[in-house]
Amino acid sequence: MTTPYADILLLIDGEWISARDRASSAVVNPATGLEIGRVPHATRADMERAIESTQRGFDVWRNTSAYERAKVLRKAAQLLRERSEDIARILTTEQGKPLFEARYELGSSADYFEWFAEEGRRVYGRVIPSRNSAVQQLVKKEPIGPVAAFAPWNFPAITPSRKIGAALAAGCSIIIKPGEECPATAVQIARALQDAGLPPGVLNVLFGEPAEISEFLINSPVTRKVSFTGSVPVGRHLSAMAGQALKPITLELGGHAPVIVCEDADLEKTAQILAAGKFRGTGQICLSPTRIMVQRSVQEAFLAHFVKATQALKVGNGLDAETRVGPLSNERRIKAISEMVADARDRGARVMTGGERVACPGLFWQPTILADVPADALVMHEEPFGPIAVVMPFDTIDDAIKEANRLPYGLAAYGFTESARIAMRLGNELEAGMIGINHTEMIACELPFGGIKDSGQGSEGGAEGIQSYLTTKFISQV
Ligand code: NAD
Repeated sequence: MTTPYADILLLIDGEWISARDRASSAVVNPATGLEIGRVPHATRADMERAIESTQRGFDVWRNTSAYERAKVLRKAAQLLRERSEDIARILTTEQGKPLFEARYELGSSADYFEWFAEEGRRVYGRVIPSRNSAVQQLVKKEPIGPVAAFAPWNFPAITPSRKIGAALAAGCSIIIKPGEECPATAVQIARALQDAGLPPGVLNVLFGEPAEISEFLINSPVTRKVSFTGSVPVGRHLSAMAGQALKPITLELGGHAPVIVCEDADLEKTAQILAAGKFRGTGQICLSPTRIMVQRSVQEAFLAHFVKATQALKVGNGLDAETRVGPLSNERRIKAISEMVADARDRGARVMTGGERVACPGLFWQPTILADVPADALVMHEEPFGPIAVVMPFDTIDDAIKEANRLPYGLAAYGFTESARIAMRLGNELEAGMIGINHTEMIACELPFGGIKDSGQGSEGGAEGIQSYLTTKFISQV
């Protein structure tokens, strides 16, 4: 069977634009190492056109009723569901994750459009009783204005959908720059919106040099709001730029999720949940459980179950039905993971399973479990963003919570215990935006998604998700 793939185009003012004489970069299938397409790079003139178009799009869309906007978003969700099988194959081909994960991601992306379609219809204002009976005081929520959004390559469908869905539901126009490594999925999402009747200019899609595009869009006077998902250093850089331009920014950055496994937990079940959670997306997920602290009395028993559950996960091309762990998405991750494993080994860590690149043309790394990793090892500080889990013992819950909160990250944290009292302590005392007790499933349209500390600011899902695309206006009328 030939590998299915798709066109990669810019979308500006409702027009699909191919590379023609523009610069372009390669898109590589990480399972084979082969180039499968070229992504066109937007020129300065393209960016200028997109900015003019987003202003016009905003003028149209803000004056479209929430009821009509919701119809377009719901129709786009329906089209995504109808096209899910084709888009899932495109996603797996460019990103690497197994088809079952890609299908789930497409379904979840459609959920986001439906959720925000309805949230947009519930953007309520209020009337404030006046001190003077002749005065009427109204509070209105209005769309904040044109949005500049930047999405990475690890969730090529969910991350753009979450940003686009919330912005459009609020009445904003949006220019999005998805990740250049996995561009075709975002193009398919934009197509679904266009086919659903989204007017030209309300959504523009640009690819290119990330730094050039972000600098241009954030500093344009047309842009009123910025949203970024990606690494802490880039988030810090864009935040500084947005701060200088006095524009609000939502940031969803990296994590280094701690897990606390207490001796009263069901160890076998916990190990299975954590193996599935850790190696999902080949560990390239910001919520991925990384520092797994296990009460000392049960550490070796847990490790035996965890190694067994991990070794049962079939590594391979995501297009094969049996594959549970696909390749890493780009060479940068292979380099980072091999450095972290070599560093831990050199410092005396035990490699319980994995620890090596798979000898084949693609970017495969064996799911890896490390134990006895010294506190100064690289992997104890830096986000692995790959298939490495560290297992370490703890003696008291106080010690475990202290270790969990040690790093500047604060995205996800997990606890496994049968004790309601300990579960409540973990919920209250772990410094993270999202906490999973006895499971790791925390992504759905109705749930707030976001971190604290260096992991970001703002929430992208749930009832909170639309708020950052709205502004408050007060009208006092005699
Ligand atoms: P990176 O820091 O080079 O880039 C991260 C993302 O930011 C990419 O999508 C990239 O295209 C984009 N980017 C880079 N410079 C930019 C700029 N000046 N303006 C706008 N966008 C810019 O890292 P990477 O190698 O692509 O990814 C690895 C790291 O990124 C991981 O360690 C992880 O922390 C982080 N990451 C986090 C998430 C998340 O969901 N929070 C997703 C992907 C990557």
